Amino acid sequence: MSTGADEIVSCPVCGRLARVPRPLAAGGGEIRQWSDAKTEPLPAPSPPPITRCPSCTEFYWLADAGPVNRPSEENGGVLEEEREEPAVRELGEREYYEAIEEGLGSDPEREHALRLLAWWRSNDRWRGREPAGAKLRPADYDENLLHLVRILEAGGDDDRLLRAEALRELGRHEEALEALPEPAPEGLEPVARAIRTLAEARDPYVREIPPPR
Ligand SMILES: [Zn+2]
Repeated sequence: MSTGADEIVSCPVCGRLARVPRPLAAGGGEIRQWSDAKTEPLPAPSPPPITRCPSCTEFYWLADAGPVNRPSEENGGVLEEEREEPAVRELGEREYYEAIEEGLGSDPEREHALRLLAWWRSNDRWRGREPAGAKLRPADYDENLLHLVRILEAGGDDDRLLRAEALRELGRHEEALEALPEPAPEGLEPVARAIRTLAEARDPYVREIPPPR
């Protein structure tokens, strides 16, 4: 079930057009929730908030990319052409770190978002599988997560819960247990319980939070 045509944006640096796929209507689909606060609506993913231009290779936030005026519905030929624009794509883990280095997280809100997205992307490799043994991760993973831990310290209860999870995923389980907000933020009790159990078990991996029965 489609909710209309895709939006077209233009790269703020070179003007190259890109297509922003509209998420399909959820239709009561299942939502997966992970201990690092990522949720995955199934079956359709949402467009990423930041991408990389395939022409000039610069990173840009979709919020900074001017939407291109859509031609009228009657102009079928142009619409057909627009569909051929490449869809905005999600960055890879390394690209997120690059984007941070290039200053795309220059204001606090964007730095928060960018570091969270980088963390999620990095964690994707462990989602939906049963990891075992020592957690091997790039040095950038720890550096990014340590920055995020500092950012989240200033936040509300939800951020403090996420901070406990970040500490757990860094293998700092005792600190994670101390950082858990008491009581757990409303609605996030199952997440807080999972983080506590995993930290007590010295498990550093991202885990799926079982859906409520
Ligand atoms: Zn460009």
